[in-house]
Amino acid sequence: MHEQNKTTQLARRAAEGIWQFEIPTPFAVGPVNIYLIEGEHPTLVDAGPLTEAAWHALEQGLQEAGYSFADIRQIILTHHHVDHIGLLEKVRMASGAIVYAHPQAAPYVAQDKDFFSFHDQFFLDLYRACGVPEEKLLIIQKYHQKMLTFAEPSRIDGHLKHEAAVPNLDEWQVLYTPGHSQSHVSFYREKDKCMIAGDHIIKNISSNAFIEPPRNRSYTRPLTLVQYRTALEMCASKEIELILPGHGEPVTQHRELIAQRLQRNWERTNTLRQFLRDGAKTAYELTALLFPKIYEKELPLTLSETLGHIDLLLIVHQLETQERDGVIYYSL
Ligand SMILES: [Zn+2]
Repeated sequence: MHEQNKTTQLARRAAEGIWQFEIPTPFAVGPVNIYLIEGEHPTLVDAGPLTEAAWHALEQGLQEAGYSFADIRQIILTHHHVDHIGLLEKVRMASGAIVYAHPQAAPYVAQDKDFFSFHDQFFLDLYRACGVPEEKLLIIQKYHQKMLTFAEPSRIDGHLKHEAAVPNLDEWQVLYTPGHSQSHVSFYREKDKCMIAGDHIIKNISSNAFIEPPRNRSYTRPLTLVQYRTALEMCASKEIELILPGHGEPVTQHRELIAQRLQRNWERTNTLRQFLRDGAKTAYELTALLFPKIYEKELPLTLSETLGHIDLLLIVHQLETQERDGVIYYSL
């Protein structure tokens, strides 16, 4: 990734009344796209990660578009990941803007300690059941730390609901698009069939359906890849001319892209089944086989990917499971 230099144009017209700012992040995903919806209530869609570079880039982008932080009346969040919410508190303080998001984003945005201890315990139990070696369980703490390093605690003032209009933006409708994150929403404008899609649909990256703790602490975990596929199908059923994503370029042929993504899932399940031909394996062992180069460094991401595909196979009864000493083994 190249560093933005000061003379680079940061603000780009993305669609009628919408500015796009490409903001740098320190993460492998590369820059994040923040959008500004113009009108009586200038609205920012997402805030970048909590870094100096992101803050200055956002300030510069707004300036190029003819705005300052003080002009922002509201902020709407696509989802709670740190590359999208890290600067929220700083922007909120600089603007006095009201913040709207899906209710599921609230404990992450607030960095609720009680929720995070439940969150960490959930992953500890899950990773043990996946057969992750004890010495690797430190990754849960690291993952947690990343959330605290690249975001400040902030707050949400109002909730976004599926199919409701975005507050103060009558042309825009909220679409709940869970899977990549339980808090994920997209925004759809009927008049020009434009969708601001966050990380739900990205052109060059197949979006990860991250495993997350359940909404209600007494329930089992949501089947995030199944959810994600369903939310993709919902988007395929809609007329969409232009998708403005959270990362990378706009998407125009959304149905083709969605069909590819759905098909790739079943190709990956076939690969998993092949790995099981010589005997039962844990989710951790399958992750090591699926992602030999990156599984150690990117365990939360790769294990989510493996578990999601295991869920698909379990739903169609193509896998057997057996528990031994608290660890789950999968076989054909
Ligand atoms: Zn994300």
